[in-house]
Amino acid sequence: MSEQVWAYSGSGEVQCELMSAALELAEKSGRSAVAVELGRQREEVVAQSRLVVKGAGDDPLPEVAAEALTRAARSRHPSTILVGATRNGREVASRVAARLGWPCLSEASKLSIDGAQLQANRTVFAGKVVATVSCGLPAVVTIKPAFYPKSTASGKEVDEFDAGELTGVVKLLSRRKKEAGAVDLRKAKAIVSAGRGVKRKEDLPMLQSLAEELGGALGCSRPLSSDLGWLPEECHIGLTGVTVKPDLYVAVGISGQLQHIAGMKDSKVVVAVNTDKDAPIFQASDYGIVADLYQVVPAIKKALESRR
Ligand SMILES: Cc1cc2nc3c(=O)[nH]c(=O)nc-3n(C[C@H](O)[C@H](O)[C@H](O)COP(=O)(O)OP(=O)(O)OC[C@H]3O[C@@H](n4cnc5c(N)ncnc54)[C@H](O)[C@@H]3O)c2cc1C
Repeated sequence: MSEQVWAYSGSGEVQCELMSAALELAEKSGRSAVAVELGRQREEVVAQSRLVVKGAGDDPLPEVAAEALTRAARSRHPSTILVGATRNGREVASRVAARLGWPCLSEASKLSIDGAQLQANRTVFAGKVVATVSCGLPAVVTIKPAFYPKSTASGKEVDEFDAGELTGVVKLLSRRKKEAGAVDLRKAKAIVSAGRGVKRKEDLPMLQSLAEELGGALGCSRPLSSDLGWLPEECHIGLTGVTVKPDLYVAVGISGQLQHIAGMKDSKVVVAVNTDKDAPIFQASDYGIVADLYQVVPAIKKALESRR
């Protein structure tokens, strides 16, 4: 086992965050932090030391990325591989861990190494409890996007590894492009989030226009994207969706189950609109409006327009 902590994400932004986690762990344990990039060196990744894995292409499927990382790890023997807990990253991490026969800690933070043991914090029960867990090294660890700040430590050290032939790993039959105009909710300053209180898909433009009026974006609870398919998957906020921290979060017709709260609880100001005065969302809100969203949303929009 080498004394390296690897950081991998398909997203350059998340990889810079992972490098902060990797550097922190490396400094604490006398190891070195290495950004692992598939295909090519990416400009947006800031790292002191890099390993460019050739053969996987620039934007590989999780199956291909996992195989490339596995081959690189078998050759270079890192002690830890940190992977961004994005939709693809979770798939990559679990596959790499299974192939290498390593433990996989998911969504961990505050990592430290004590001898041959990796210790970390994990939030469980949708953020209600922080558990301290440990596992043997080497290990794979996933880290939630936006948990760590982006690393700015840069350097020129670049190593390469040729993963060899990977085209037979999986056959791609078709690929659907992300919908044009899709926004990254993690960057939005204001989010209007739609829940099942919204009765029809045709009512969503009403919320979208409020979001635009606030200079923000439209998000949703999981049922609206995963069950009803009214909005793309990347719009759903919560435990299994994106974690957001906007200045303003307006929860419209959302009951506030803990899986949803887990993804928006760090918003600066939360406003909830719900007809049920006992809805749990009010406990996570700074301002609560007990009323019908079909009256409240147009009224807020009108008030905002009149102030222009
Ligand atoms: C493993 C697991 C992971 C999950 N991950 C997530 C996740 O990441 N994100 C997530 O969101 N959910 C997640 N869920 C689902 C979660 O448990 C809830 O089912 C979901 O959040 C409920 O969505 P909702 O609040 O929109 O709907 P509901 O719970 O049905 O709430 C609708 C609310 O709208 C209100 N309402 C109705 N009509 C109006 C009206 N006219 N005006 C105003 N208010 C009105 C109601 O009073 C109610 O409070 C997960 C579940 C599981 C099991």
